[in-house]
Parts: sequence; C-alpha cells; structure tokens
Amino acid sequence: MRAIVVQADGVILDPRRPEPADRPGHAVLAVRAVSFGRLELEAARGLLGFTGVPGTMVVGEIISGAQGVGRRVAVAPVLWCGTCDRCRAGLREHCADRRIVGLQGCDGGLADRLAVPVSALVDVPTHLPDDAMILLPFVMAALRVRRVAPMPARALVTVLGDGPMAHVCAQVLRTANPRVRVLVRHPERAVALDRLGIRWRPIDEAGTHADQDLVVECTGATEGLDYAARLVRPRGRVVVLSLAAALRADPGTLARLVLAEIDVTGGFAGPVREAIDLLARDGIDVSGLVTQRLSLEEAVRRLAARDARTGGAEFACAVP
Ligand SMILES: [Zn+2]
Repeated sequence: MRAIVVQADGVILDPRRPEPADRPGHAVLAVRAVSFGRLELEAARGLLGFTGVPGTMVVGEIISGAQGVGRRVAVAPVLWCGTCDRCRAGLREHCADRRIVGLQGCDGGLADRLAVPVSALVDVPTHLPDDAMILLPFVMAALRVRRVAPMPARALVTVLGDGPMAHVCAQVLRTANPRVRVLVRHPERAVALDRLGIRWRPIDEAGTHADQDLVVECTGATEGLDYAARLVRPRGRVVVLSLAAALRADPGTLARLVLAEIDVTGGFAGPVREAIDLLARDGIDVSGLVTQRLSLEEAVRRLAARDARTGGAEFACAVP
C-alpha cells in the first residue's frame, strides 16, 4: 500500500509499505480522510523523535478485525493501555504507555490503510461529514480548556489565532463566556467569526495591556506564547493549545510568566464522546474550516518542503 513515512533523514511517499498486520484487539481501516495541518508538519519534522506514518485524526472504514466491516468510524487519537496506575486512576489520556496516532508510537492515517486498537474506534453519526470529523481534536482541546480554566461571565477571555483551532475554540468557550474575543493576524479570515457573531480584532490594533484573565493560544506560530504572555494579567492564566508555540518560546517570555505569576496550562486531549455529541447536535459550526483536499502525493510534497501554509490559518484534509 502507499504511505507517507517520516524517516530520520526525511519524508517519503512509500508506494510499497507493508500492509498493517491483523493483530488481536486491533482493527484495520481503509482511510477515508485524515487531518493535514500543523500537527502533521511537526510530526514530519521529527517532533518527539517521531518516525513512521503521520496523520493524527483519521476517519476510515473497517475492513477487518472488528465488528461491522464497512462501518465508518473515527479514531480517538490518544491510545492507552487501561491497566497502568494512571489509567486505573482515571488519567487514561496520560497513560504511562501512552501513544498518539501519527505522532508518538503509532502509525497515522496518511496512508491507504492503518491498524488501530478496537478500543480507539468511535462511531460517527451518519450526518457528520468526514471533514467535520477530522476537526474533532480541536473540539476536544477546546472542551479541555472549558474544563480547566474558570471563566466567570465577567472574565476577559481572548483566543489568539485565525485558523480553525481558534474558530472552534472561540465557539466552545462562548458557551461559558459570551464576551470571548478573538485576535487575528489576517482580518480577511475573520469572515466566519462575523457570521457566528463572535467578537474579533486585528492583533496589531489590540495592544498588549496585560489585562486578560484568560488567554488561549491557538496560533500555531512560534511567537504565540510570547504574545499571550503579554496579554494576560498578573496571576491570570494562559492555555497553550498549539505545539509550535510551546516548543519555541522566547526565554524572556518564560521570565515574564514567572514574575507575573501566570498559570500556564497545556491542552491536548479532551473528551472524545462529548466532542462528537457537540458536533452532532450542531453545537458548533465547522463549515468551511477545511480549506483544501490533498492527495498523498501533494501532501508529501508539502511535508518535504515544510510548507507552513498547512496548519495555522489553513487546514487541509488528505484523501488517499
Ligand atoms: Zn495506561
């Protein structure tokens, strides 16, 4: 089969990757659609020492290993063992043997087929298109923010970013705090925010007054955390959702976070079932957030070129 493979010395499209083997407790899926954004770009750069097939959010059809051959399913990207101390303590997302599809210890979906544990399969409501499902991790992360960050109605809340993660996050947080605003780098991309009635401003006009109670970093840019640290009030909270911001923060930013006693929280793995339910009952509008459809050939070309158009403001769906 064909698969995009991250190796120590680069990224290739392997036309003869061995088929995933049937293993007990695992299902083999034919990939229908897979996310192609900043996370896939970071995986191709070797984030966390990753080698293998990238592609973290997968929608596919069961072809063997599980009941319901032909059934359309999504794959919950965080895999756990279910038996370690953390799993037994209710921290399955932080399992001692945690693997993440397409990012850590498990091949992802930029391939014709992949094998995943049956426990990771999630049924997809029939009316939800594949495009909506590959945005699921953003909904999960936004729900995680709502759970960890207190957001009283009077709180000042800023979401940083103009890509799909920011759009999804603002919609989810608005259910807790109607004053949520989004700061964008590219005003032409804020049309969807206008349509949704979400407040936004160009980032260059907003200033940095260190007065926000909560800043959620969704830029996918290396300077995202630096900017968030200048927006948040002393003893406020920053939640970082994009790995790029977390990986390359300026040392001066870290000093500011210490001196202003800022709580910094990472957000990654929120509740899968709750996220699907929210999408299924039209709780958030994700139409138009997947901007491109790519073949594997085009996807590997962009990964090899480290093309930053993918991720951040643009988000694509790769279709084998
Ligand atoms: Zn475990």
